[in-house]
Amino acid sequence: MKFLLSIIIGLLTTLSFSQNDSIFIRSIYNTALSEGKAYEDLRSLCKDIGARITGSAEAEMAIEWGKRRMESYGFDKVYLQEIRVPHWERGTKEAGWIRMKNGSLVKVNLLALGGSTGTSGRMESEVIGFSSLQELKDAPKSMVEGRIVFINQKMNEQQIQTFKAYGGCYPVRGMGAVEASKKGAKAVIIRSLGMPIDEHPHTGTMHYEDSVTKIPAAAISTEDAELLEQILTNGSAEFILEMDCRDYPEVTSYNVIGELTGKNPDNIITFGGHLDSWDTGEGAHDDGAGIVHTLEALRILKELNYRPNNTLRLVFFMNEENGNRGGKGYAKWTKEQTNENHILALESDRGGFAPRGFSMDGTDAQIMMLASFAPIFKEYDLHIFEKGYGGVDISPLKHTFEGIPLVGFVPDSQRYFDFHHAPSDVFENVNKRELELGCAAIASILYLFDQNL
Ligand SMILES: [Zn+2]
Repeated sequence: MKFLLSIIIGLLTTLSFSQNDSIFIRSIYNTALSEGKAYEDLRSLCKDIGARITGSAEAEMAIEWGKRRMESYGFDKVYLQEIRVPHWERGTKEAGWIRMKNGSLVKVNLLALGGSTGTSGRMESEVIGFSSLQELKDAPKSMVEGRIVFINQKMNEQQIQTFKAYGGCYPVRGMGAVEASKKGAKAVIIRSLGMPIDEHPHTGTMHYEDSVTKIPAAAISTEDAELLEQILTNGSAEFILEMDCRDYPEVTSYNVIGELTGKNPDNIITFGGHLDSWDTGEGAHDDGAGIVHTLEALRILKELNYRPNNTLRLVFFMNEENGNRGGKGYAKWTKEQTNENHILALESDRGGFAPRGFSMDGTDAQIMMLASFAPIFKEYDLHIFEKGYGGVDISPLKHTFEGIPLVGFVPDSQRYFDFHHAPSDVFENVNKRELELGCAAIASILYLFDQNL
């Protein structure tokens, strides 16, 4: 009986889609896989522009690049939305060594954390190691004062969803400098938030508190972290650090926006990724993939002469990495300057890997609608249609438009933290077919939401 019931429910869910939906989604996939432009677009963004941290010349060129690409695809509207953004630069000098007790030196691979102060020349001091942020918090001040703190907190490799392992270590990068400084440390060195043991350091955003002295903060590669741990287990060592990164005054920047106008033009479905990246590598997975996923999704819908019910608005957000000014500025602008009705937002910011599905931050009824799309995606190997996170850039919309569902594209996460914020996040590490499947999945779900919302 139960079996029969599940068949009936299955049939009913399947039947809620028309033959036309299936045919249209098939043509979306065919276009993405046989006539796709996403891989070439990503190559161009990575190689013709490169890493594009907020406030840099590359970020400005990326805005120009994005606007030109959107115009070349013939969207109904293409325009820029002005915002103010922070401007931090890594500078020219960035080096670190471990000096062992016998005086021998080991050069380490390191990156200043985004937003860190510099060292004002060479800084050196005895290094004191902790296995976690909590262990540092629990340590007496006398143990830390005047030293360089090393936090060797590892990402939990037993977590199947790597974003959860990342979340577990996020406070180390975010709050390490504040906690070390409270106890009188001169600087903080963290183990990179990366899953594999390799030579690549991973940068990322960090925080200071006004009442706490700002000390320099850097991440060393996981390989160097393992080595330093070993050295400290057997005795003492000094760390030598020089970085001349610093903050500059805020500058003007832009979100880049392209639209297919809907039959109900003021009903808006926002979707996109972030155009800025960290200043290392090429921002290929983070978030070049999200940029071309969503660009390609709109291009394909236009190519197939799709006339949307609601306005499909593609946004390339600026400054996700160190301020989210693009996301905040967009939400503020839509609320204060327009009379729009925002019905859904979607973001791709988890890399260009093989698609697994979509997660949604929304009500039970909204999540039920998402889950009802699952059968149509079965033949495309997508199976995650559930409650979860949307995305950083679209998150301010939640506070601006009550009840708006936020959707996050979910690709396979196993390799994302090999490359995240590291010099290895380059075009060559993105697979063409996996990228194209992501574009097709996003175009398809945008179509289904547009039809059903
Ligand atoms: Zn990102």
